[in-house]
Amino acid sequence: MDKEQSTMKYRILPLIPLRGMTVFPHMVIHFDVGRDKSIKALDQAMVDDSLIFLCTQRDARTEDPGIDEFYHIGTVAKIKQMLKLPGGSIRVLVEGIDRGEVVEILDEDEYFESKIEVFQYEPEEITIDKQIEGAMRLVITDFEEYLVLNNKLSPDILLAIADIEDPGRLADVIASYISFKIEEHQEILETFDFYERLEVLHRLLKEEIELLEIEDKINKRVKKQITKVQKEYYLKEQMKAIQKELGEDGELAEEIEKYREEIDGIDMPEEVRQKALKELDRLNRMSPQFAETAVIRTYLDWIVELPWDKETEDKIDIKKARDILNQDHYGLEDVKERILEFIAIRKLATRLKGPILCLVGPPGVGKTSIAKSIARALGREFVRMSLGGMRDEAEIRGHRKTYVGAMPGRIISSMRKAGVKNPVFLFDEIDKLDTGFRGDPASALLEVLDPEQNVTFTDHFLEVPFDLSKVLFVTTANTVNSIPRALLDRMEVIRIGGYTEEEKLRIAIDYLLPKQLKEHGLEEGNLGISENAIRSIVNHYTREAGVRTLERNIANICRKAAKRIVESNVKRVRINVGNLHRYLGVPKYRFDIQEKEDQIGVATGLAWTAFGGDTLSIEVNSMKGTGKLQLTGQLGEVMKESAMAGISYIRANSDSLGIDDGFYKDMDIHVHVPEGAIPKDGPSAGITMTTAAISALTNVPVARDIAMTGEVTLRGRVLPVGGIKEKTLAANRMGIKRILIPFENDKDLEEVPTKIRNKMDFILVKNMDQVLEHSLLKEEDSHENN
Ligand code: ADP
Repeated sequence: MDKEQSTMKYRILPLIPLRGMTVFPHMVIHFDVGRDKSIKALDQAMVDDSLIFLCTQRDARTEDPGIDEFYHIGTVAKIKQMLKLPGGSIRVLVEGIDRGEVVEILDEDEYFESKIEVFQYEPEEITIDKQIEGAMRLVITDFEEYLVLNNKLSPDILLAIADIEDPGRLADVIASYISFKIEEHQEILETFDFYERLEVLHRLLKEEIELLEIEDKINKRVKKQITKVQKEYYLKEQMKAIQKELGEDGELAEEIEKYREEIDGIDMPEEVRQKALKELDRLNRMSPQFAETAVIRTYLDWIVELPWDKETEDKIDIKKARDILNQDHYGLEDVKERILEFIAIRKLATRLKGPILCLVGPPGVGKTSIAKSIARALGREFVRMSLGGMRDEAEIRGHRKTYVGAMPGRIISSMRKAGVKNPVFLFDEIDKLDTGFRGDPASALLEVLDPEQNVTFTDHFLEVPFDLSKVLFVTTANTVNSIPRALLDRMEVIRIGGYTEEEKLRIAIDYLLPKQLKEHGLEEGNLGISENAIRSIVNHYTREAGVRTLERNIANICRKAAKRIVESNVKRVRINVGNLHRYLGVPKYRFDIQEKEDQIGVATGLAWTAFGGDTLSIEVNSMKGTGKLQLTGQLGEVMKESAMAGISYIRANSDSLGIDDGFYKDMDIHVHVPEGAIPKDGPSAGITMTTAAISALTNVPVARDIAMTGEVTLRGRVLPVGGIKEKTLAANRMGIKRILIPFENDKDLEEVPTKIRNKMDFILVKNMDQVLEHSLLKEEDSHENN
């Protein structure tokens, strides 16, 4: 197969001229990039599809090579991994793919943007005739001979080439192992015809073997009769080779020495030290051309940078801890008390392994920031790792070194980031962990959290245990329902509910605004936001249980205010209800979204989801049909059953409700709950669905100013439900003042903040009759609707 037989295509690729090395197709190798132009080329490659064209400089010493100062035949390569090195240069791991030739340089200002003709061929389509087969055997024998003489390369390499059937690839792979001169490597790269390529390689290998034999003889001090001219010639060549080797070896020796000193300087477990020294020894014996050296370097870098012996000292002072929690958070009194107890226990029994805290609540209620405060209160470092959507065990535990581009998992990466072995380590969104296909991340996590096992946590990449027992783990979740049971058993759950309007106002004024002012480099005098403006942000620009969007809106205002102050030289910006829209745009929510009119077949329920409380408008249509019940809007199983229980109740009581008792045969009923972003389930919409259905079947409208929650039984009894506080807050956010709740939930009203409780009209109900009495409009009002 030659150049003409391969399929050609053109690609536009960034080009990097390499100094003193040639990359062949199929070769995995790393090199360091420091020149500005080359870094720009890398950046461009990463923006595109990680492909780059690598060719070799004619003279390695040229600092800024022009178009004619590098070879135009090179290799298209894929970037596998990049590592920033101290001093701004970048270590790149690449894999050669196909030969290519520069057709045209399109731009050379920023980097060499080049049009490349890429040569590809299908290995299956190659015919191997006797001639080629003979040449392949010949170079394999040469290579074996070479390996016997060269003690720097491991004989194992033969195994790697044994299976190669593609003659071109065989020549390339062998060539990549041998430190030929640049021109010689280039000659092999530029020989497209397979047979010729093998021939060139054979010639070069023979020369190399001859040199090695001479070297061998000199080393053994065996002198043979060589003519003076020959001897001089060979000795000179030999000197050159030795000097070259010495130059490189010198650099390598320095690097090895540096690693050795670093390893010596760290107090690490003996097992780890032995393993690190063993890897160091392997690096020492390996040819620098060999791709695996990159993996060993990465490995050693991780070993010397992990905090084996670094730890902070706990400062446990309950009074100070309380101050810190108060400085960072408004309210949350019982949460703070629980945390202080937790800290106090650690003080009393330092070696006792307390349970792992799990902060549960809707987004933006301060879970993360509480965890940060725990770290601050203890004087510990803080790291955070999100588990959302994680489904591959390797993300936690890393990939084995044999995997291309392998790295330690995120636990070990986070420990390196923490820089100490006893940080506060936050696992965010533990309820979003995917029980995946590839290994089970939950069981890996269980091991991490288990004090019996985490002393010897072993990452696949590191292969040696790292002690996690001093880490203080904290987790967060939106809901406990989807936390794997085994994990939940290990944790102490602390719930954080949502905030009321008043609480949000206080948090905004005392915490969020000062924090954002500081972050935007503003003084308190520069920006004033009136209390009513903040109230308006809470009501008209956000609809949330926490304060995350509220904070984002305040940050927005700060950014725009800072811009005005800098650009228009104003001293002070004041925000009030009147000019708020100029900073935040039109209001996103109407405060009062209650239906304007009393409607038939529509009732307002109250839901409690992972994101806090919410109102839920449930719609029911009834029409002539065959008795089908249709439920739409992503309802969970429990919710469907609850709708069916409601319909059964209606059937059993159709007489007293004034509904034609044949309705379940001649009518279709369609229950719809507008989808929203959050999946809904649970029995607590029972009375709402039943009310909406009765309204639809009787044509009696439902009062629009009322919201309700409660489970319904087949016999129409109303059973208690959860989340009364959150649901009440949600109703309040929507401007609803009358709420129907199950009689047995009476005791939960204590949890509702007094201010809100006083504003609300709670109606306690025991059965469906009472629900209907309050929610359906009286007959005389509804006649006109009939
Ligand atoms: P979560 O982790 O629960 O989603 P965050 O901790 O990220 O929430 O909180 C969002 C923002 O709101 C943070 O800036 C946090 O400091 C602030 N915040 C939340 N609750 C309070 C509170 N009670 N007092 C002061 N700031 C709070």
